[in-house]
Amino acid sequence: MSFQSEIEWTDATWNPVRGCTKISPGCKHCYAETFAERFRGVKGHPYEQGFDLRLVPEKLGEPLRWRAPKMIFVNSMGDLFHDEVPEDYIIAVARVMVAANWHTYQVLTKRSERVKRLLNSTLGFAAEQPHIWWGVSVEDQKHGLPRIDHLRAANAAVRFLSIEPLLEDLGPVNLAGIHWVIVGGESGPGARPMEKDWVLSVRDQCRRAGVPFFFKQWGGVRKAATGRKLEGKIYGEFPARVLHPVPSAQECASLASKLGTPVFAIV
Ligand code: SF4
Repeated sequence: MSFQSEIEWTDATWNPVRGCTKISPGCKHCYAETFAERFRGVKGHPYEQGFDLRLVPEKLGEPLRWRAPKMIFVNSMGDLFHDEVPEDYIIAVARVMVAANWHTYQVLTKRSERVKRLLNSTLGFAAEQPHIWWGVSVEDQKHGLPRIDHLRAANAAVRFLSIEPLLEDLGPVNLAGIHWVIVGGESGPGARPMEKDWVLSVRDQCRRAGVPFFFKQWGGVRKAATGRKLEGKIYGEFPARVLHPVPSAQECASLASKLGTPVFAIV
C-alpha cells in the first residue's frame, strides 16, 4: 500500500504487520479486513493472503528511508500487539521508531494489556521517547474503558485514545495521564450511528482536563456527506510534537544497516 494516508490525524501509515483477528465490538466492520479480503488469492498482491496475520520484515526499515518528517500511524492494517506477533518482532519495530526519531509515531492497539506489560518491561527503551505516542482504541464502556486504565498504567511519555467507532455514551472518562483524544463515528456500509451528545460529552471532558481533542468524522454510510464539523467547528488539535533533526541519506543508510533491516533506496 502507499504510505500516504487519507486518515485525518496522520500523514502516513506503516504496516510491518498485516492482518489481525477480531477482539471486541469495535472490530465488527474493520476497514482493514474489508480491504485486505478484497485481494485474497490475487497472486503477488500484498494482501494475497487476505487478512491472515503475518509479519512483513521487509517493511521494517521503511521509516528510515522517509527523510521528510511525518506523523506515522503504526499498523493501520493490523494490530502490532496481537498475541501472535512475537515479542522480538515488536522490539525490532520499536528499535526502528527510536532510531528514525525525526518522525512522530502513533502506535494504536486494542491489545492494551500486552502493550502495558511490554512498555513496562522490554519496550522501556521506547516508552519514554516523546516522539512515540502510544494509544488504545475505545468504542464502548465495557471494552474501551478498561483499556484506558491499562494505558495509564503503562510507562509512556505520550498516551492517546482513539475513540472510534464511538458506539455509546462513554459516561465519565478518566483522562488523567492522557495527552490526546480522537473521536470518530463508524463509516461505510452498515455503519452504526453515533449521537451528538456522546461526542459533546467527550469533548467537554477533554476541555475540562486540558486534553487536545480531535474530531475525525461523523461517519455514516456516506462519510463525505456528514463531514467533521462539530457545532460548526473543526476540532483538529494535537499534542505538542518533538522535532529532531533529519540525518543525511548516508546516516540513514548506516542506521538501517546497524539495525539489520533491509536497506531501501533512501529518498
Ligand atoms: S483490532 Fe483493529 S485491525 Fe484488528 S480486527 Fe479489530 S479493528 Fe481490525
